[in-house]
Amino acid sequence: MYRSQQPAGACSSTGTQTDSMQGQVPRLSKVNLFTLLSLWMEVFPSTKDDENKKKPQQIKKTGLVVVRNLKVIGLHCSSSELHAGQIAVIKHGSRLKDCDLYFSRKPCSTCLKMIVNAGVNRISYWPSDPEMSLQQDNSSQTSIGDARLDAKAVERLKSNSRAHVCVLLQPLACYMVQFVEETSLKCDFVQKIARMEPEFARSTFYDYRQERVKEYEALFLISSEDLHKEILRMIGLENLCEDPYFVCLRQNMKELVLILATVAASVPSYSDFGFYLSKTSDENQQGLTQEMALHCIIQARLLAYRTEDHKIGVGAVIWAERKSSSLDCDGTGSMYFIGCGYNAFPVGSEYADFPHMDDNQKDREIRKFRYIIHAEQNAITFRCQEIKPEEQSMIFVTKCPCDECVPLIKGAGIKQIYTGDIDSGKKKADISYMKFSQLRGVGRYSWQQNPHRTSPNNTTVSTAGENGDLKNKDEDDLG
Ligand SMILES: [Zn+2]
Ligand SMILES: [Zn+2]
Repeated sequence: MYRSQQPAGACSSTGTQTDSMQGQVPRLSKVNLFTLLSLWMEVFPSTKDDENKKKPQQIKKTGLVVVRNLKVIGLHCSSSELHAGQIAVIKHGSRLKDCDLYFSRKPCSTCLKMIVNAGVNRISYWPSDPEMSLQQDNSSQTSIGDARLDAKAVERLKSNSRAHVCVLLQPLACYMVQFVEETSLKCDFVQKIARMEPEFARSTFYDYRQERVKEYEALFLISSEDLHKEILRMIGLENLCEDPYFVCLRQNMKELVLILATVAASVPSYSDFGFYLSKTSDENQQGLTQEMALHCIIQARLLAYRTEDHKIGVGAVIWAERKSSSLDCDGTGSMYFIGCGYNAFPVGSEYADFPHMDDNQKDREIRKFRYIIHAEQNAITFRCQEIKPEEQSMIFVTKCPCDECVPLIKGAGIKQIYTGDIDSGKKKADISYMKFSQLRGVGRYSWQQNPHRTSPNNTTVSTAGENGDLKNKDEDDLG
């Protein structure tokens, strides 16, 4: 039996209640944000160990987001040895009870039986090729037979479980796609490139996005409508094969993939831009690879589209790196998730409780600044793991941390900040960014051109701080 409350991607694209409020920008629904994060986790950069022992193609790499009380408590990805659902059980155990799990593919029976057994509340999955692939071209006849048997077992587990196993996609708010496009072009990372490299044009951004679109469509969509329908039938979604549901579902999926590609393009691998330790950082530490840093900052960029600040959405995510690799069963390797957030009004308040005016408003009393909780503050408040002083922990923020947040980040024991520094050194009427460039004891990895331009093969974030003669142009300009 199909247990979703409503057909996924239903055509009534009217936007959410708040979108109709005047001056309000479109937001991602929680469900769509978690779904996008699950897709994004599927493309988490593989660790070296994982590359050596590639999985048989029949089991597809799967991303997973674990949510409790509407807060993310885990971002995972399958590894060469373990499926995403198995990793969730290892990492969270019986704490999975009453959690909602968002998978980038429908989990196989091996995973489903264990997570159902753990007492999860809801299991949502992306309605494309499942974890155990049903796409003929990837597998032999026998493995397709196995995959079909597995799909049947999954249906049986589903119909006998208390957990709600369903497809939770929601129609996007009106103009969401255009909004993500405009704000991605305006975001600090694209803007920084545009300032430093005159040859970077809008078209460069769109070309880069187009490459991402192609890549993600190949991963997350099924180009043939007939094959898509056949797979939906095999995974118990026959009622989505009828129109208008089928057309709407495909449209909905396509738009979400486009949003993912657009957000990914907002921090492009362009020229020699990356996250490099600022010259004035006193830290002498090993940073993440550029690939890893990009992945995490894009998680933060996705979170920013849940903002309640109608002008600037900010997202933040905190990760840590384990010292001992003996616990690395997750596809994220030694990296593990600590917490995340976006800027919003205090929990429990109604949207209309507080003023929304920015500094264009003359009367300082009706401005929003004293009420909004910053993305970093929410990430620190709602973290699901402690920040261990002996481990490397890092925060990824889509905008330079302000003077209110810089001491909080340091005080929380976070060791590295990955961010854009466009606002660094600026002082605005109600918010200032003077403390960031003076911060000591925390590695500041700002989005900039590689200070070691002579060694293009160096893909690891370098420690330019040791090298006094290297100039960080932008920081000097703004500081
Ligand atoms: Zn599995
Ligand atoms: Zn702040």
